[in-house]
Amino acid sequence: MNTYDKFLPDDIPAWQTPFWQSLKSNKVAVQRCEACGTYRYVPKELCPSCQSVAAVWAPVVGEGTIYTYSVIRRGPTEAFQADVPYVIVHVTMAEGFRMVGGLLGVDPEDVKIGAPVRVRYVHATDDWTLLAFEPA
Ligand SMILES: [Zn+2]
Repeated sequence: MNTYDKFLPDDIPAWQTPFWQSLKSNKVAVQRCEACGTYRYVPKELCPSCQSVAAVWAPVVGEGTIYTYSVIRRGPTEAFQADVPYVIVHVTMAEGFRMVGGLLGVDPEDVKIGAPVRVRYVHATDDWTLLAFEPA
């Protein structure tokens, strides 16, 4: 039985599934342009730099620094409301692209822009592992 009561991905196109599969294995695979090397996150059908359709799924180290953040004080549903205040971070990953996720294990008053973080895998259900961050 699914007891996870927060948002889960919905209507994921088949060509984006390698990202979600990687999370289930406690890894992060991000689309990377075969023509120019640009990381494509979120996944895209065309490279935003060179418009190539050719891409591979490349493992990334899963570490970065906080670019900016928001402290959420009113949750969108009862399940999220139970966690307030919580933090959503934009992280500049070691490879240069940015990802967004929850920041776990830090008091919202102690969050610092530029602080090092790493990916934390949240095994929400048997089918879904979600990406969050924690202090590195
Ligand atoms: Zn490209």
